[in-house]
Amino acid sequence: MPLPGEERGVLYVVGCGPGPLDQMTGRAVAALKEAEYVLGNESYLAPLAPLLEGKKVIRSSMGKEVERAKLAVELAEKCIVAMVSGGDPGVYGMAGIVLEVAQRSVPPVKVVVIPGVTAATAAASLLGSPLSGDFAVVSLSDLLTPLGIIEERLRCAFAMGVPVVLYNPRSHGRPHNFARAIEIALRFRDPATPVGIVKNAYREGEEIIVTTLAGVTDYEEAIDMHSTVIVGGVETRMGKVGENDKTIITPRGYQKKYVY
Ligand code: SAH
Repeated sequence: MPLPGEERGVLYVVGCGPGPLDQMTGRAVAALKEAEYVLGNESYLAPLAPLLEGKKVIRSSMGKEVERAKLAVELAEKCIVAMVSGGDPGVYGMAGIVLEVAQRSVPPVKVVVIPGVTAATAAASLLGSPLSGDFAVVSLSDLLTPLGIIEERLRCAFAMGVPVVLYNPRSHGRPHNFARAIEIALRFRDPATPVGIVKNAYREGEEIIVTTLAGVTDYEEAIDMHSTVIVGGVETRMGKVGENDKTIITPRGYQKKYVY
């Protein structure tokens, strides 16, 4: 217990997983229960409503991340604060900017990052097991990264031959980045390579599309900022498991050592 007058502030950066409460970790739920202040984007706060009763809730909109981080750090000098972030806070989330702001803060503030289920693994679980071994992750958002660098990263990622997960695949502001990514993928992959598109994983509006690199352009219009796209690696295949004949599996290599 802190002594009277002693600072007891802490800033939890909480990964909320893909959406609903039952996809959050126990640690994430405990941090929210403990918090006096909860800050976050409205879309992440809505599913958490049952945990927010009696708390001071500060809602903000997309694009105000730096402002939100500064406010959270300020409040955490004296109070228990939870900043919520979708998926995992360390994957294109709030943890980085919060730690950068906290690093400049006087007095120092205690920051605890709490992991969550990220979109890559949430989407993968709905497709089968496309990410069983090594894989690469690239965001197609050019808000903070120039398009030239994204293209270079895509070339490197696809050149590795491993599955590639595309975050922020397509928005109204930059509808062409996705087509460009597929063009690059086709330089390194067979057109029959499986591609999984998962929209709104584990939340309302969930949609799962399994196609191929050659066929993905037919679904381009359906792909938005609530979607994650997984392009298979050179070993990834599509097959029947139970009723689902489009289960995506990337074998880890057990077949080379065992008979099953
Ligand atoms: N920190 C988040 C990612 C934020 S970037 C995480 O770890 O998941 C935002 C991108 O994440 C979206 O454009 C989309 O590509 C992906 N995403 C987040 N939640 C998703 C969900 N429930 N279903 C599918 N994709 C999702």
